[in-house]
Amino acid sequence: MQPILKINLTTGNTEEYQIPEKWQKDFLGGASLAARILYSTLTRELDPLSPEAPLLLMTGPMTGTTGPTTGRFVVCGKGPATGLWAESNMGGFWGPELRAAGYDGLWITGKAEAPVYLWLNGSRLEVRNAAHLWGQDTYTTQDRVKEEVGEKSARVCVIGPAGEKQVLYASILCDHGRMSGRTGLGAVMGAKNLKAIAVRGTKPIPVFDLAKYAPLRSEANRALKQDNEAQVLRELGTASAANYSEYMGAMPVKYYTHGSFENVDNVSGAKMTETILAGRSACQGCVIACGRVVKVGDQAKRKGPEYETIIGFGPNLLNDNLEAIVELGELCDRYGMDTISCANTIGLAFHLFEKGNISTQDTGGLVLKWGDVDTIKQLVNQIGRRAGIGELLAQGSRRFGAHFDVEEEAVQVNGLEVAYHDPRGVSGMALSYATSPRGACHNQSDYFFVDWGHTNDSLGIHYFDRHAQGEKAANVARHQDWRTVFNSIVMCIFANTAPEMQVKLIDAACGLDWTVEDMLRCGERGWNLKRAINNRMGLTRVNDKLPKALLEPFPDGGSAGFKPDLPGMLSAYYAARGWDPETGKPAREKLSQLGLDDIAKDLWA
Ligand code: SF4
Repeated sequence: MQPILKINLTTGNTEEYQIPEKWQKDFLGGASLAARILYSTLTRELDPLSPEAPLLLMTGPMTGTTGPTTGRFVVCGKGPATGLWAESNMGGFWGPELRAAGYDGLWITGKAEAPVYLWLNGSRLEVRNAAHLWGQDTYTTQDRVKEEVGEKSARVCVIGPAGEKQVLYASILCDHGRMSGRTGLGAVMGAKNLKAIAVRGTKPIPVFDLAKYAPLRSEANRALKQDNEAQVLRELGTASAANYSEYMGAMPVKYYTHGSFENVDNVSGAKMTETILAGRSACQGCVIACGRVVKVGDQAKRKGPEYETIIGFGPNLLNDNLEAIVELGELCDRYGMDTISCANTIGLAFHLFEKGNISTQDTGGLVLKWGDVDTIKQLVNQIGRRAGIGELLAQGSRRFGAHFDVEEEAVQVNGLEVAYHDPRGVSGMALSYATSPRGACHNQSDYFFVDWGHTNDSLGIHYFDRHAQGEKAANVARHQDWRTVFNSIVMCIFANTAPEMQVKLIDAACGLDWTVEDMLRCGERGWNLKRAINNRMGLTRVNDKLPKALLEPFPDGGSAGFKPDLPGMLSAYYAARGWDPETGKPAREKLSQLGLDDIAKDLWA
């Protein structure tokens, strides 16, 4: 592996860190390897917004190799809203550029005295003044940094005003709209006075056996291009999921209180394609190209919204105005904020306003009327600036609810807002949300696809009824392990590459002669390691929970009347995982089986 570049922003010192070979074999790369590197740094006492807090930007062993959806990297640290393990992976072109500069990761600590940006040109690092960029939005900052470094081919990842102001769900953006959306690591970057990181590299990307890898890569990409789901994503984008999700009663409406939205056709992927689509965009080397480019009226082309943004700012707030959703998504991108958490927290405010828990006295005179686009826009602006009620909303739904003594109304798990795949429609998501290492996350296991019938025999991931309960627990665990492998390679979860092909690619790229089971074992190791990190930071079984709203049946829609039996599902899940039912920690024996004796010793000391 190439080294990781450690940068201390307080002292200006840099140092190359070589990853132990054993760790690469055990964890492969990306998020799991980052978890191993940061294991002893992430303590319960560590303030995620302090100079000591680490921010690790990690690539995977295939990043930049133009393998199937491998243009990605992952940002890791401690979540400012959750106080837990945080990771968020991002597409675009920045990760491949970093590898071409000769590094597999950047490990940033400390805090600059005043705003700075980093310019890594090959192995030459400059820390540059960013005072003039502070306050600028993400897109403007990218353009200006590129201009200043005088290198058109440089790739720049940036924070916007939300990261500077430490909005707890601030994100990091690269390449005009690719985001590390979740877990608020943009706030961690902002707390370090770090506005941007520009990178340029010209070295060949290292591959263990390129002669073996190249034909496999072509074969895998050809198959992916023909894949049914990939073609739907290309034609209709991620918003293609809207109609089906609504039909199944898996799309939450009006802040998770309803399971049906009459006007879903107005915000669907098909509607976008038919009305405003002006092009498609892809992360480096991706043959799927799920990204949307849209044109609204006679305005310039801009990024089109993803499923989560559409549902969050759409049905979640009873808004069916697709063009307004495009604008709201772009506003969040420019401030540098996660659209899931932002729309969810705004949804909570609307919900509490309707219930009478908050009033115009709390909102600065704003009347929160469902579907009122102007008000939603004002709230997004206030959050991005931490102004007015935006100061409270910027802290996320858990803290917002707690401020008004109604924390239980917030639809979040451990401080991360729930995404828009409702476990009342697809019950596997109950376990995905309750046990994810980063809070309510749909990317650590997008099990809704399995509940829709997307199984994989060679992985041992089988179909259970979408409303089955504890009997699917072991299946969910296996799916989580599989997705943990994706987050180690740092692949996109939209790539349906056959597992047998996946191990061949890993062998050619890394020299690891694995079976499919070895690969899943690597995922299981990563999942348990992240759990152990969270246990060290105070997480116990009581944290494996769902918010009240998700345990009450929908009154309408395709899943009306159903609710997940979370305690029963969790007991089956703990048994399948080999976790201690009292403490919620991975049992000593389980950690030993996974070759994590040192972690077992520490965790059970
Ligand atoms: S499918 Fe979409 S998000 Fe995934 S790598 Fe390709 S373009 Fe990027």
